[in-house]
Amino acid sequence: MNSKVEQISASTICEVIELLSPATDDYLYVYDFGQDHYYISPHARQRFLLSDYSFHNVSENLKKAVYPEDFPKLRADLNEILTTDRCTHNLTYRLLSVEEKPVWINCRGTVVRDEAGKPLYMAGCINEIGKDQKADNVSGLLGAASLKLYLSQYKESFPAGFVLRIGVDNLKGVNARLGIEYGDLVLQKTSEFISECLLPGETLYRVVSDEFLVVDFEGRRTEEGKELYRNVRNKIHNFIIEKNYEVLFTISGGVLDFKDTDEASYSQVMKYTEYALNEAKRLGKNTCYLYNTEDYRRFLRRRNLNLHLRQAINNHFEGFEAYFQPLFSADDHRLIGAETLMRFRSEDFGGMVSPGEFIPILEETFLIVPAGRWIMHEALKMCRDVQKYLPDFKISINISHVQILRSSIGREILAAVKQYGLNPNCVTIELTESGLLETDTRFTTLWAHLKEAGITLALDDFGTGYSNFRYLTDLQPDIVKIDRTFAAKAVVDEFEFEMLSLFSKMIHGLDLKVCVEGVETAAEMEKLCQLPPEYLQGFFLGKPCPKEQFIEQFVHI
Ligand code: C2E
Ligand code: CA
Ligand code: CA
Repeated sequence: MNSKVEQISASTICEVIELLSPATDDYLYVYDFGQDHYYISPHARQRFLLSDYSFHNVSENLKKAVYPEDFPKLRADLNEILTTDRCTHNLTYRLLSVEEKPVWINCRGTVVRDEAGKPLYMAGCINEIGKDQKADNVSGLLGAASLKLYLSQYKESFPAGFVLRIGVDNLKGVNARLGIEYGDLVLQKTSEFISECLLPGETLYRVVSDEFLVVDFEGRRTEEGKELYRNVRNKIHNFIIEKNYEVLFTISGGVLDFKDTDEASYSQVMKYTEYALNEAKRLGKNTCYLYNTEDYRRFLRRRNLNLHLRQAINNHFEGFEAYFQPLFSADDHRLIGAETLMRFRSEDFGGMVSPGEFIPILEETFLIVPAGRWIMHEALKMCRDVQKYLPDFKISINISHVQILRSSIGREILAAVKQYGLNPNCVTIELTESGLLETDTRFTTLWAHLKEAGITLALDDFGTGYSNFRYLTDLQPDIVKIDRTFAAKAVVDEFEFEMLSLFSKMIHGLDLKVCVEGVETAAEMEKLCQLPPEYLQGFFLGKPCPKEQFIEQFVHI
């Protein structure tokens, strides 16, 4: 190739560069070795710390324009060109901008030699890789594209080591309070502190606006990754003190052991570390979380379930079902009513999903508001239909705290009760003690409002959380439901039974009714009836089932 090219002189190339320069943002250059002369697109002078766009004494002049840490690398590469027969130059390093800030560039060139192989000149192009996110000029670090390139050298699996992803907590808040420039300072300092804490062989990237990633392929353990995180945190802490608490910020970290990746891919590293960092933030920020495959699987299932629940709700509650469990009077085992229990069925999750799994997701996402509204209507419809046969039939509905905080559930209940032509005292609302129940006015107002309208109120899961008699006196529910865990213990443990007995007496002393939940056997029923409760509920007497089955099994007898 050089046979023709070598006839073109370096000075001709200078002319070509001058001609082409206005047509590109990149910087074309020619380096004439014989003349020790360098010529670069004139607009480079406005960007980089160059004395001119055409100069002699190349090495000395370049030294002023190159980021000091990177100059040895450049010099070594150029030396190799001059002393071997290599014909290409391809190097990523930093130049200094006119503001003396590092700017990541990639410099490529072709070396033209004479017939004897002596290098005449090198011509090529410099481009700023910061522009396409390969590097970041705020922190002076390489970016996600460079990380991708670095990881792509491994095809089958990654070598032993770890990756630590560090995120600045709530950078948006810092930007909003103190301005973008302060935000930039926080990022610069964070990147500086991480750099100072790196051990030999570790590389640092800035992957998204407020996140950094350290790769260690040196076989170090995740413990050392956590240690690195702690060291950076300490430096930040000291910096904050030094600045007299003018700026307060923290960082979170997610560590991934490379042995936990099952393929050598950039996307997997990004996905797993993103999850790990999010977990650290979810755990309250200013902490470090170690990636764990089991947790991640659970997280994926949860996320997927969340998606399915949302879709099901948007799709007219497809997959949601209302089950009903009978409630009996304890003395004559007469059917009193039913508790409405939500079910969710999805083939993608192997059929029925346990309410213990999906109800918390509905609550977290506030989807319990539409789902709770839906089941309330199913429950009231059921009550209306069964009352055709049993006019005193009562229906119980579970209400979540989220529904109280996020909707006008009280008004909705009363409107729906009216809509179905039901007597309010046929409807029981079950609520769990939460600590908020006695103190938050939204709860106490709702409670008083429903009570006044004649709705029956039941305090659910008694004996699980903190059981304080004070709130029984304050709230005056109509029914206290003893949780299965408490009842089951009382059956096998005399002391527990004594305690339950005592509770039961006190509840009766307040003129409230007791319902024992989760009666599974005849023996359990016999023992628990000694309390004695007013109501019984449990698999032994009847399992939750759909409406038609319920009517067939418990109503038409
Ligand atoms: P919960 O309100 O305490 O409901 C009673 C739970 O005990 C039900 O579980 C029922 O199937 C189960 N159970 C009844 N008898 C027995 C028994 O003899 N042995 C045993 N081992 N268990 C028995 P389920 O249906 O899995 O519901 C779990 C929880 O999910 C409910 O506890 C309630 O907190 C919540 N939940 C269910 N449906 C709804 C709903 O529509 N809205 C709201 N907000 N929460 C609901
Ligand atoms: Ca309940
Ligand atoms: Ca319960």
